[in-house]
Parts: sequence; C-alpha cells; structure tokens
Amino acid sequence: MTNVLIIYTGGTIGMKQDSASMTLVPFNFGQILKEVPELRKFDLSIDAYSFDPAIDSSDVKPGFWVELAELIRDNYSRYDGFVVLHGTDTMAFSASMLSFMLENLEKPVVFTGSQLPIGMLRTDGRENLISSIEIAASERPDGTPFVPEVCIFFENELYRGNRTVKYSAEYFKAFQSPNYPLLAEAGIHINFNKPAISYPPTWGHPLSISTKIDTRVGVLKLYPGMSPQYVDTVLSMKDMRAIVIETFGCGNAPGEPWLLDRIRKAHEEGIIVVNVTQCAAGSVDMDTYATGIALKKIGVISAYDSTFESAVTKLYYLLGKYDDNSIVRVKLSENIRGEFSRK
Ligand code: ASP
Repeated sequence: MTNVLIIYTGGTIGMKQDSASMTLVPFNFGQILKEVPELRKFDLSIDAYSFDPAIDSSDVKPGFWVELAELIRDNYSRYDGFVVLHGTDTMAFSASMLSFMLENLEKPVVFTGSQLPIGMLRTDGRENLISSIEIAASERPDGTPFVPEVCIFFENELYRGNRTVKYSAEYFKAFQSPNYPLLAEAGIHINFNKPAISYPPTWGHPLSISTKIDTRVGVLKLYPGMSPQYVDTVLSMKDMRAIVIETFGCGNAPGEPWLLDRIRKAHEEGIIVVNVTQCAAGSVDMDTYATGIALKKIGVISAYDSTFESAVTKLYYLLGKYDDNSIVRVKLSENIRGEFSRK
C-alpha cells in the first residue's frame, strides 16, 4: 500500500478565531483530520505529524527549514510521498528552500495550504489537501512517482516550488508560476505535464540534506528617487556575503555614477551581487540596455528568470555549503533544481 505522510506546520488551513483577541491562531492538527472525514476514503495509508507549536508562516526561519528537512529525511524510507501543510504567506520561500536542501530527492514533497480555514463552509483547504495527497501518492506505470519534486499545489494547479510566487492575498488562486509551466492540473483527472517535470537520470540515490543555511544576504530594492543614504544603509550590513539587487525590467538599474560606484565597491570587497528582476514574468538580460550592461561589466551575476524567493534561498543554501565565495559564484550560474530557464 502507498504511504503518505502529512506534515502540518501551521497556516490558515489549520487556524481558528481566538475568542479573546478575535485574531486567527493555529489550532491542533487532530481537528483538521476531523474536518476532512473524506480522507478515510483513500485507499492509502496516511499518517500525520504536527509541528509543535504550529506557526503562522510569517514566523518561518532557518531552524524551521532544518526541522522540516530532517523530518522528511528521517521518514523518507517509510513513505512514498509527503504533503506539507504550510501558511501561504511564505510558502514559496519554504518550497524553494527545501528544493535546494533536499539533495537527490526522488519522492514528491507537495506543499499546500488554504486561504480560508478548513473549518469554514467555503474553505479551499479541503480540496487542496485531498488533491495534494493524491498527487503525493501518484505513481507512473513503472512504479516511480509522477512528481519527484518539491512542488506547491493550490486551487487545482501544481507548480514547481522554486518557480512559484504568492500573488493574491484575496483569491483562492493565490499562487502563480509565471516563468514555468504547470506540473499538473486537477480537473476530473489529475493531468500531469510530464515534459515539465524533472526526473532523475537514474533512480535509487539516497536522499541527503544540506542543513547549513547562511543568511548573510542583503536585499537592495531599486526604486526611482532612492537616495545614496538608503543604498549605503543596506550595503553596510555587517558580514554580508551576498546581496540581491531587485532591478527594473530585464535587469536594469539607474546609470547614476554614485549607485554604480557603490555596487562596484561591494563587488570589489568580495560581496556576491545577484541581479533579480522586479517583474513577475520574464528574465534578467544584462546585454540589452546600457543600464544593464553597466551592471554586467561590474561583475553582477544574473539570476535569469528566478523568482526572488528562489534567488534568496539558493544563496542561503550555497553560502551554507561553501565558505569560498568564488565557488558560490560559479554555482549560482548553474541550474541546480530547475530554478531558472537555463541549462
Ligand atoms: N498568515 C497565514 C500564514 O501564512 C496565511 C495563510 O496561511 O494563508 O501562515
């Protein structure tokens, strides 16, 4: 029988209103299972594990990712797939981070959650949970899993985790993957998009996890009217090893000498400078406009069409793995887990 482990970490899917504060707070996982009696109809063996305490995903931090990765590793041989119930706010960060931390992953790890708590009449949580379990348990005719990847399932769509962004705080369709096709779509059937799914060239490699996370990463969001003081404040972050610059359009920055000088200085001091576009869709291309070419000349590294979430978590992962920034620079340009559209 196929075995699936549900890991409940928190988030709206398992929240209820606190009568004193009238705010939403996470509740005990056992109550979620009571809310979804349909789970008994599955011809699967389903176990559940709950984080204690369950958290709002705004409180996610590196220790949480390590706990989650270790939990998956410790249960890896016993289960065919994993469903991670997680708050939507930072789900794209966690799915990206786990996609890097879980090395040689050959089983599905499906993140899902909901916009409305599972106890509410119009909840989207029940549907999301049931389909995610089905996806985590789905096998191809040769017995290998359909989606041996870290992914996010939401409102009938399955996305590659490190290609996904939360884009709506209102609609049930809360996520998008603007630069990568759906891995599957749930209608009457779950239709897997096999050409988009990444399969290992050979099966049977043991899972290993990389739990050293180095968060010495700064973020510089560009905006018209920003001041040199603002840029200096960001660049003065102590011990910073890398900085992600959120640029305009296809990777452009204002051509003002004071800005370029500061970026050059950071690069010369050994800080890794990564270029991510503020646009949800499309890619950094530092060969088209003078304002992008100037960054490339300085030595700024392109994140191509990565999401911001994946660029930051890829840095956390690589900086944790390698003390030498020159190795991190090389690895950043490699497509490690399908996080950008380059070989
Ligand atoms: N604040 C919640 C969380 O991310 C929102 C949600 O789950 O949708 O945990």
